[in-house]
Amino acid sequence: MNKKIVKTNQSYTYDILKNDLLFLNYEFPFFKINEIGKSTLGEKIIYIKLGEGNKKLFINGAHHANEWMTSLITMMFIETYLTLHQKKEIYKGYDIEELWKNVSLFIVPMVNPDGVNLCLKEKKILNDNLYKNIWEKSNLENWKANIRGVDLNLNYPAGWEQAVKNKAKKGIIAPGARDYSGPNAVSEIETKNMINFTTLFQFDMTISLHSQGQEIYWNYLNYKIEKAYEIGKKLAKVSGYQLTEPTYYSSFAGYKDWYIENFKKPGYTIEIGKGEEGKSLPLEKAKEIYEEMEELFLIAIQECKTI
Ligand SMILES: [Zn+2]
Repeated sequence: MNKKIVKTNQSYTYDILKNDLLFLNYEFPFFKINEIGKSTLGEKIIYIKLGEGNKKLFINGAHHANEWMTSLITMMFIETYLTLHQKKEIYKGYDIEELWKNVSLFIVPMVNPDGVNLCLKEKKILNDNLYKNIWEKSNLENWKANIRGVDLNLNYPAGWEQAVKNKAKKGIIAPGARDYSGPNAVSEIETKNMINFTTLFQFDMTISLHSQGQEIYWNYLNYKIEKAYEIGKKLAKVSGYQLTEPTYYSSFAGYKDWYIENFKKPGYTIEIGKGEEGKSLPLEKAKEIYEEMEELFLIAIQECKTI
């Protein structure tokens, strides 16, 4: 493989993501850079589509701002997948051309660009006064929410009222760095765009990347989703991650929960890597985490064919 475009030597801001995508697109002009809509501050929430099949897999990263490592890992995979497609080789036993022809892979590498920019203290955000009262007293490195202080993965209409109750018990009733579900379900434009995008394309399977814990969550309430557990087992096997269920406290109002409830198809939350609780994963772990995840992505594409 030639020199890599996606590098692991700097925190993954929205601007770096955009630049990397432009360079990748220059190298591989056959894919298009699209948007699912805008963020609160008007940034494009970018999506790309790789492959041509009727089956549709959707991978998304960085609902949570301080989990920007998920965007970087996703972009590393995009570069690998494009390169493999161009070479038309069998890779680690996977027939990439066959995957490309049978499955359309939709990717939103960064659901929450404003939040990531805030967490990484980008100048243009720090100079924006509109929502300053919400974040100015916070430790921004641990910021998970969007720019309005709403936790986007608690803003979906699937047990949203229960999420509010669970968090209120822990004293969280107002906008802030994490765990606030919003004034109502789908109060945030980022959530709305994700819902519209998913409804438009009717994905066969979804994977939402979070950090951290090396765990795979595969269900919601008691929904019995065909193949969800079996595929989850395969994802766990190739990554070494544990297939498990979230605690009741963090069970509701996430993207996966909403997707499973509405589409009755396999939807996963994957907690990548292992580091310090509540903190962003350190950059020096990027390559190691990518190694854990690479085959998981490939087998997910392969399994999506069977749904
Ligand atoms: Zn998360």
